[in-house]
This record gives sequence, C-alpha cells and structure tokens, in this order.
Amino acid sequence: MVYDLVIIGGASAGLSAAIYAARKKLNFILLTDKVGGQSLLTDSIENYPGFVSISGPELVKKMEEQALALGAEIKEKKLVKSVLKIDKIFEIETHDGEKYQTKTIIIASGKHPRPLNVPGEKELTGKGVSYCSICDAPLFQEVPVAVVGGGNSGLESATDSVPYASLIYVLEFGPKIIGDEETQEKLKKTGKVEFIVNAQTLKVAGDKFVDGLVYKDRISGEEKELKVKGIFVNVGQTPSAGFVKDFLELNQQGEIAIDHKTNQTSVEGIFAAGDVTDIKYKQCVVAAAEGAKAALSAYNYLQKASRP
Ligand SMILES: Cc1cc2nc3c(=O)[nH]c(=O)nc-3n(C[C@H](O)[C@H](O)[C@H](O)COP(=O)(O)OP(=O)(O)OC[C@H]3O[C@@H](n4cnc5c(N)ncnc54)[C@H](O)[C@@H]3O)c2cc1C
Repeated sequence: MVYDLVIIGGASAGLSAAIYAARKKLNFILLTDKVGGQSLLTDSIENYPGFVSISGPELVKKMEEQALALGAEIKEKKLVKSVLKIDKIFEIETHDGEKYQTKTIIIASGKHPRPLNVPGEKELTGKGVSYCSICDAPLFQEVPVAVVGGGNSGLESATDSVPYASLIYVLEFGPKIIGDEETQEKLKKTGKVEFIVNAQTLKVAGDKFVDGLVYKDRISGEEKELKVKGIFVNVGQTPSAGFVKDFLELNQQGEIAIDHKTNQTSVEGIFAAGDVTDIKYKQCVVAAAEGAKAALSAYNYLQKASRP
C-alpha cells in the first residue's frame, strides 16, 4: 500500500499533524519510537493555551487521544532508520526492518538528550545513569546523586531529586551555574545541594550499577571522584535528524532546514515540523502549530499532484 502521508514522531508536532491529517481524511500512519517526546520530561507546563498548568505527559496524552478519536493510526516502537526516494514515492525503513511507501512525509522527530560521551555512560544507562529525572528521581532514595549540567534543565533535575536523594551534586563545566538564580537559591536552602563549577566529567564509575562519577577540576587539573549512585545528564538536546542527514539539507546545528511558510524541506513532498527543524522557538505550542502547518501543506501538495 502507498500512503498519502507518513508522519514520523509522536509528540506535540507529530500528533498535531495527525489531527489535521485525519480531519483532511488523508490515508496516513504515524510512526514513532514512543508517544510523548520531550514533554514526558516535565511535570508542569504552564504556557500551553487552555491549561493553567498541566503535566507534560498529560498534555501529550490528550493530544494522542484526540488524534485516535479522529481515526489516526499510531504505531509505537517504530524507530525510523532511513528515507529513500524511489521514482515519485518515498520509502521509509524502520529499525525492525519494516518498510512503508508514501507520497509525502512529515518529519516531527524532535530532539533527544545529548550524551556526555564518557566511558561508562552507555554501559550504565538505566543502571544509574538517567536522562529523565521526573521518571527516575524516585529510584534514588537516601543515596547521593550527581546532576551534570548547571542550566535550567539541570536545576530541574536537582529539584526533582530533592525529595529523595540524600545529597545532590550539580556539576557545571563553565565557571558559573547558568540556570535560574531563584531556583539556585531554593536549592541552596534545602541544605542538600552542592554546586561544583569548572568541572569536566571524565568517567562514570561502576561495574553493574553506578557507584561514582570522576571529574577534573578544570582550574587545578586535579581528578576527583564523587561517590554517587545516580547520575542525571542534562547537557543539552540534539536534533533527531540523523536518519535524513544525507538526504535533506540540515543547518549547522543539525536541524532540518525548512521553508518557514510551508514547512517544505529541501526535498519536495517532505515536510518537517517542531523541534527537529530550524525554527527559532522550541516550545509545545509552537511545535503543535508547526505540525498543523506541515499537515495542511502536505494536503495542498497532494491536491496539486492529483490534478491532471
Ligand atoms: C525538561 C523540559 C521542559 C520543557 N518545558 C516546556 C514548557 O514548560 N513549555 C513548552 O511549551 N515546552 C517545554 N519544553 C519543550 C517542549 O517539550 C518541546 O518544544 C516539544 O516537546 C517539541 O515537540 P516535538 O514534537 O517537536 O518533538 P519531541 O517532543 O522531541 O518529540 C519527538 C518525537 O519523535 C519521536 N522520534 C524521534 N526520532 C525518531 C525516529 N527516528 N523514528 C521515529 N520516531 C522518532 C520521539 O519518540 C518523539 O515521539 C520542555 C522541554 C524539556 C526537555
């Protein structure tokens, strides 16, 4: 079967695109690694119109329910590996070897946490190394943890850990903690948080589970070890566009370049929306609007293509 449209990504941008595609009665499917995206990482969104405050998981759940109610087909555990063009049709392959043929594509694959790329990190992910404090902070009861990254998301991880961990080290590579000053003050008042600046993480220590973090003091050059059982990594996000890097034009940050009016990428018939693109503002409401734009553009493209 050749679909009218395949949407890649099941979060704010992709689910909004699905709502619009369903209302336009397109023959489409949404493929996603997991429904929810980055919104799963925050328990309070206070700037999405219609909700004074809502948790990220609840917000995307509502979007998913709306798309399903309109008849959208959503397939999870479908991580897209590659996109090819064969004549006028695109072929999408997922990591489990499935192939999907389609006339148009919307890429809404967002961003994912950037790894530290230090020894021990990969091996101990899920065994003490975490990229989601909301999900995992309760696992570290009465033990010391480290948060790598002193920006706002690092401070959010520290805040999430306060009710559970016995001690929280926040490590910042630069000379100053850059996250919100008010949150820093609140964290200091807990008496549980220690800020360490000029710290370069060198290694995650541990055999089966994390039992330490080794860092270098960038001023003295001295190597030190913190005896922690959990490590939250908050060193930024990277666009999930690797699977189209040889196919579509990306900017220097690795984001998909789009025409900001139509969401068209450098390849006709492929549209992109949300955090994976080169739009300036990365927010749920923006991603949802971009998903809607991309779906309407895909619809217009299909209408034009079907005209004699
Ligand atoms: C800690 C934190 C707090 C935030 N707080 C707010 C806030 O208060 N308000 C706000 O508006 N925004 C907030 N944001 C930003 C907001 O979450 C993002 O702007 C929004 O999630 C972007 O949506 P998206 O659909 O573009 O991408 P994402 O949310 O990144 O979702 C990408 C989707 O694509 C899927 N995917 C990725 N690669 C593939 C692939 N190869 N194949 C198939 N599927 C794939 C993922 O599984 C996911 O479903 C926050 C972000 C973080 C990290």
